[in-house]
Amino acid sequence: MIPVEQAFQLLDENVTPLPLTNVPLASSVGSVLASEILSDVNSPPHDKSMMDGFAVRSDDVNNGRKNLSIIETIIAGDWPQHPIESGQASRIMTGAPLPNNADAVVMVEQTETEATDTGQRVQLLIDSISPEKNILRQGVNFKTGQTVLPQGHIVRATDIGLMAEVGAASISTREKPTVAVLPTGNELVSHQMKPLRGQIRNSNGPMLVALAQQFGLGVTDLGSSVDDPDQLANLIKAGLTHDILLLSGGVSAGTMDLVPGILKDLGVVEIFHKVAIKPGKPIWFGVNNSEGRKRYVFGLPGNPVSSLVGFHLFVRRAIEKMLGSQIGQIPSEHGVLHTAHETRGNRPTFWPGKRVVDEQTIRKFEPLVWRGSSDLFALAEAEGLIRFQENTTAHPAGEKVEFFPFA
Ligand code: AMP
Ligand code: MG
Repeated sequence: MIPVEQAFQLLDENVTPLPLTNVPLASSVGSVLASEILSDVNSPPHDKSMMDGFAVRSDDVNNGRKNLSIIETIIAGDWPQHPIESGQASRIMTGAPLPNNADAVVMVEQTETEATDTGQRVQLLIDSISPEKNILRQGVNFKTGQTVLPQGHIVRATDIGLMAEVGAASISTREKPTVAVLPTGNELVSHQMKPLRGQIRNSNGPMLVALAQQFGLGVTDLGSSVDDPDQLANLIKAGLTHDILLLSGGVSAGTMDLVPGILKDLGVVEIFHKVAIKPGKPIWFGVNNSEGRKRYVFGLPGNPVSSLVGFHLFVRRAIEKMLGSQIGQIPSEHGVLHTAHETRGNRPTFWPGKRVVDEQTIRKFEPLVWRGSSDLFALAEAEGLIRFQENTTAHPAGEKVEFFPFA
């Protein structure tokens, strides 16, 4: 049995980022940027009007020249043909490029137009205007060549507009790992069935599939295996064609816990087995190196909450490293306990909890009523796991704790 920090370190040492690849902008949400995004344009691309109105010379207005001759109309997408001379204005639409010599735009609501023998004129209904009014200068948002998103950034839907603006049509990122899920146990039946005597529904399969899908990964559901060496070996072999194989059950010390032995027979090298945590102690992790591609195998303990804790602490960390995320670890939150709590034993406990919002600015975490590793019911309300240190029994309200959020 190794301490949890050592398990993290072993994961970090053994898991390597997947090869680089390119994805089209439209399907890049969730990707980790393998290189920074540079702009190939100024934003805005030209000096432009922020209003529908009239482009003028502010010194004209401020010198009392308020009846101006309209020399052209500039709509968005056009390019101005004439510079503005004293006594002149151009009708301009929002987003349209500003003509030379203009340094302000009077909003259309503050004007009246009239047709005269010598052409269209505009009467300004204002007494003065400051230079730069209603104008956005070229490149004030960002300039050509500027970094708009850093390497390691995880692309959100919000970022897609910015990347479209700067012409990032193809995004450099890492391949996403493929995942296979294989729960084991003679007692398991599909969730579509009513369990008979001695049986239990397979909770872990659908849960692990969904957890991996939350990271945008493609998942193969291998169903489940009975505790039989031949069936286990065959299904594990199928699972080893994926980058990550998530097994559940069969990794503790019982007579039917065949998984570690079969994995070793199939050439998966054990990196660690048993971590000092509660719940989830029997977790097994190993690496298989075949055909130049590393495959990572997690043997998660069968109890559903143990599987869940193993996923959040270890599998997630491996996924992030493979995707090239610079976070490299689960971003935990620091705060204090909202209510007093007791834990037992010589292993750190990861207890289901939720955030508490109150008038204070400090984060508070509330341990939920939870009956142990088979109790998924407590998780319905949980937002993450509160870490309690080992060998301390009473945890008073206000004690500093670390919180590992699920999302
Ligand atoms: P094991 O790790 O195989 O010793 O299983 C520990 C406990 O978890 C036993 O009570 C199993 O019945 C239960 N268990 C194992 N696999 C699953 C599963 N896929 N879904 C729900 N419970 C499970
Ligand atoms: Mg079992």
